[in-house]
Amino acid sequence: MCGVVGIVSHSPVNQYLYDALTVLQHRGQDAAGIMTINNGMFKLRKANGLVRDVFEQKHMFRLAGNWGIGHVRYPTAGSSTSAEAQPFYTNSPFGISLAHNGNLTNAEDLRAELKSEARRHVNTSSDSELLMNLFAHQICESADMDLQPENVFTAVKAVHKKARGAYAVVAAIVGYGLVAFRDINGVRPLVLGQREAEQGMEYMVASESVALDAVGFSFVRDVAPGEAVYITEDGQLYSEQCSDEAKLVPCIFEYVYFARPDSAIDGISVYDARVQMGKKLGQKIKRVWDHLDIDVVIPIPETSCDIALEIASTLNIPYRQGYVKNRYIGRTFIMPGQQQRRKSVRRKLNAIASEFKGKNVLLVDDSIVRGTTSEQIIEMAREAGAKKVYFASAAPEIRFPNVYGIDMPTPNELIAYGRDVEEVCEMIKADGLIFQDIEDLVVAVKTGNETISKFETSVFDGNYITGDVTQEYLDRLDNIRNDSAKAQENQNQTASLDIHNIN
Ligand code: AMP
Repeated sequence: MCGVVGIVSHSPVNQYLYDALTVLQHRGQDAAGIMTINNGMFKLRKANGLVRDVFEQKHMFRLAGNWGIGHVRYPTAGSSTSAEAQPFYTNSPFGISLAHNGNLTNAEDLRAELKSEARRHVNTSSDSELLMNLFAHQICESADMDLQPENVFTAVKAVHKKARGAYAVVAAIVGYGLVAFRDINGVRPLVLGQREAEQGMEYMVASESVALDAVGFSFVRDVAPGEAVYITEDGQLYSEQCSDEAKLVPCIFEYVYFARPDSAIDGISVYDARVQMGKKLGQKIKRVWDHLDIDVVIPIPETSCDIALEIASTLNIPYRQGYVKNRYIGRTFIMPGQQQRRKSVRRKLNAIASEFKGKNVLLVDDSIVRGTTSEQIIEMAREAGAKKVYFASAAPEIRFPNVYGIDMPTPNELIAYGRDVEEVCEMIKADGLIFQDIEDLVVAVKTGNETISKFETSVFDGNYITGDVTQEYLDRLDNIRNDSAKAQENQNQTASLDIHNIN
């Protein structure tokens, strides 16, 4: 997963972009980048690492200009080397820089087509570089030297026709303006905000509404699936629906785990969605586990806290914080190999023994992916003196890979792949395990916006909304994504496109 931001302001934009990226940091801790435009020239700083580590004061001084784009990266396809930090840049036509969140499902076909039809070279395995070249080629086809909003929209229409998958894109065209668009199903989120300045309106687009809050922009609306928003350098806003096949099918996992609770996506507060998940799961526990004697509900911090609190109140059982999280350590999931991932759970969480001693505890997590976290957390609960350890997951069993930009492991690495609840329970060594039903998850999230009729739920049910995900594609993905392939690619990767990067 990644986070994107774009701002067109009337004053220097570097600090705003930086601040926005820091509140989008949860969407990617792997690499960060900012591209600003000053007097018709791009200024770029991008590197591996957290936002606070990538940008030093000297970089910020040189990221001059009143408009620009930014990105935080979480590796999905490809590797985590700096060659694939974003934004990307191409000098033709006009000078275009692009960053994106998502994943293309027809990347290989597009790569070949760009080469044979447009003579465009894509230097990395990043989908974003591919998308940028596709977009740049379509801009080239649709405009002469005088780029008008309708030329931009024509280009985005062509991109939608060719690209399959999920993408929320921000792009800067030197001398013209900022373009933002969302795939025709709106799988990945993108919001539009504005702020009144003395010189006129300023605009911002970002992956999540929390970024608007952080830099003082007010929320205008979600960018619609298939829509493109174009903001000229001098602050004129244009927008157009660029696909007649557009239909909103947002990713449900954003609500389960990814997005911040203080964001709203497609009219649904992430926090409210989690509270509803807790209510639904609490009701299921009441129905199915009526006979169990549970003394206390304990969340696995932090995503599941809001969910666990609601479960506790539905069950009328005390809610206690039994684990303390070390704030200064990254998410365990992003560690490169399984062994490192195992160790890091204990570095991240520690149990408060008094909350467990002699009690039957119900642990709540938002989801179980590989099961490594759950297994160790259950072990910690027992070491702390728990009598019985029950486990509840606010998401259903994850059994299928994600092809739309979430870094999920390959099926073989998913604990629920090919296993039923009892088998997973046995593997994580719980005394009982319960998963949310998919119907309940959908109802919980939908409560915030009844107009959404469908969500992207493929990790739970294997139904891929783009309709083009074949077993062959999944096998190829498997080869790129499994732990040993990732380790190998990280070693091999040497290419770099960082021609203009400020060091
Ligand atoms: P595990 O089952 O050990 O793989 O870890 C599950 C935990 O990882 C859950 O508590 C989630 O909060 C978190 N999680 C779920 N999906 C992801 C993801 N795609 N990337 C990072 N962390 C995740």
